[in-house]
Order: sequence, then C-alpha cells, then structure tokens
Amino acid sequence: MRAQELAFQASAQQSPGSGSGRMETASARLHSIYAALAKRRQHLLDPLLNGEAPIQWHHYPEDDATDRTTGYQWFYHSHSPEDRPGAVEHGHFHLFARRSLWGRRLGSKTERQFAEMTRGQPSKADTRHLLSIGLNANGLPLSLFTVNSWVTGDRMLSATLTEELLGSMRLHTGHREIDGVIESIIALCPEEIHETLDARDRSLATWTGENILTDERLEVLSETKIDIDSKLGSPQHQLP
Ligand SMILES: [Zn+2]
Repeated sequence: MRAQELAFQASAQQSPGSGSGRMETASARLHSIYAALAKRRQHLLDPLLNGEAPIQWHHYPEDDATDRTTGYQWFYHSHSPEDRPGAVEHGHFHLFARRSLWGRRLGSKTERQFAEMTRGQPSKADTRHLLSIGLNANGLPLSLFTVNSWVTGDRMLSATLTEELLGSMRLHTGHREIDGVIESIIALCPEEIHETLDARDRSLATWTGENILTDERLEVLSETKIDIDSKLGSPQHQLP
C-alpha cells in the first residue's frame, strides 16, 4: 500500500466524517488517487474501458459496480451525442441506492409528498437513482446532474432522502480508485448537490405533462458545473 494511502487512512481515522474535516480528507484522497494514476500513466477509467472509447449506452462494468454490504451501486456510460447537445463530457457515472437503504422510508410523509408531486406509478425497481457525475476526457469531474426516471428505468427519492443517502455513501465495489473518486466528489460538493436536487424538483414541479417520469421530452432535469480544483485548497492538492 502506498504511503499516501496510509496517510489518507490515518487522517480518515482522525476526522470522522463531518464538516471541514471530511472535506479535507476527501480533498487529500482525491489528490492522492489522481497523482497515483498520473504516476502510472493511467486513466481513471482504464480498468473499465481498457483504453477504448465507451460504446454508447453500454454499462461499464457490464453488470454495474455494487457494494452488497452498503447497498450503493454505480455504472459509467455515455449517451448518444444527439441526446446531450453541446455536452463536453466524455461520459458519466450514475449513482444508485438499493432497496435496503430506502425501502422502509417510502411510507414517510416526505416520500409520499414527493411521489405525489411526480405523479409516478409505483415501481418495483430495486434501485433509486441518486445523482450523475459527468467526467471530461481526462477522467476529471465536470458536473453533477439528474435525469428523469425513464432514463435509468427506476425512480427517484425526495431531495432530502437523496442528500442523506449521498452523505452516508460508502463504496467498496472492487473498483477502489473509482469508488474513492466518487466518494470524494460527493464529500466535496454538498452545496452543488443541494442546488442540483433543488433544480431537479423545480423541473419536476413545473412540468405540465401528465406522465412526468416517462415523458421522453424531459431527460436531463438539472445540471450544475463543478470546479474541483477550486475545492482542493492548497496548491499541492491541485489535480494534475
Ligand atoms: Zn447516463
């Protein structure tokens, strides 16, 4: 194990996950991962793509990356360019929470109100889509965005529960560096996440069509650009 990672583990033990301590840890971790990749001349997505361009809509990894213990799941892919006119991203991660994380919460007032607002038919899907993270061609994060439920084939949760689940997200899917990048971005961007979910709910609330969640005219619900470098603080933490 590299010294940087040992240092990260030590600092994670000292700062148990809240406020600026959590951000400091995430910042150091993100830097450590990209620095290690640069040193090995590797791209973050090499283990998934083997140096090839992603095939549109194909899931990477094919059966998604799932942490069976915590109940979180992700995959990487790209849509067709016609779908995202003007998009500069290379592709994006879709993040999900499995039923064990939210099943008992569906009857809560907040979730019932959210379901009413989206006028969605009940779904038996075992996942709920939380958020997407767009990456540029260098594998660096560019944006956070949300998509309509027909895109991911499941449903969404209220912004409150989504933020809570993202806040407690821990990933051990076997893709150590990607898990680390996703966790770090989430930890570094609480305000952008809040803004993105707020905008998502405004899009849903103001849509006048009947079947909001299956209406293919409504695809990307909200998007917020992120400037990760500006969050990394000290110059030695800037990404390569
Ligand atoms: Zn997608």
